[in-house]
Amino acid sequence: MCLFDRRAIISSIYGVGRFFAARRHRTPHCFLFAKREGCLLKICGLQKLTLLDYPEKVACTVFTAGCNLRCPFCHNASLVLGEPFPDEVAESELFAYLKKRRGVLDGICVTGGEPLLQPGLTDFLSSVQDLGYSVKLDTNGTFPDRLQAVVRAGLVDYVAMDVKNSPERYAETAGTAGFDFSSVRKSMDFLLSGFVDYEFRTTVVKGLHDASSLRGAAQSILGAKRYYLQKFVDSGELIQDGFSAFSDAEMREFRELVSPFVQSAALRGISE
Ligand code: SF4
Repeated sequence: MCLFDRRAIISSIYGVGRFFAARRHRTPHCFLFAKREGCLLKICGLQKLTLLDYPEKVACTVFTAGCNLRCPFCHNASLVLGEPFPDEVAESELFAYLKKRRGVLDGICVTGGEPLLQPGLTDFLSSVQDLGYSVKLDTNGTFPDRLQAVVRAGLVDYVAMDVKNSPERYAETAGTAGFDFSSVRKSMDFLLSGFVDYEFRTTVVKGLHDASSLRGAAQSILGAKRYYLQKFVDSGELIQDGFSAFSDAEMREFRELVSPFVQSAALRGISE
């Protein structure tokens, strides 16, 4: 079944228009909440359908709880700031859903929070793969050894890694004093080696980024296959208030600025 056919089927099942409205704001009503029963992963949200999160795939997205960073612009504060986390999704319910949607969905995005914090991630990914799904892993890149382990085990098909900012402004942008950039550097180098398909992405925030810092960020991933600049959106659930987005025109200028350093630079969150 081609991607177009599946999108048509999914559209009739869920109503893609409604989905896009919910996806933009990521409010809790787009999640499926339930009591936790399993033990592989601490899951706090399931977005049943995404046409945006996994390139070229029709996918669902699983949100894991907890993060080791405190990026002040983070739009998933309730997943980051610790107990009490939002109500959890039962693994039995998730896997029942995945079994039911085989042939309609073809991928699963695992995001957070920071998924590599989860001790049960390897077993979880293995179970997902047994069902025939492709896996996209979102990570902040601060656990390079864990990242390499799941990739080298063949449990991940695509990695999306945050590039918070230039090395000089990383600690500030990650909201973590004394941040050790070497862990991120190691993850960047691993992805740049091409062992697995990947993208880098930066959420561009007024007050944290400017032309100089974005140039530094792009230089740190010199030659990268894909680099996305994402327009900041205030979800209403930020770790710290007071941030705003650059205009679409400014975002386009930033894309031109970073383009010479990577193979492909593109924007997300604006109409090109
Ligand atoms: S934006 Fe920062 S704080 Fe939020 S989940 Fe990602 S790495 Fe963690």
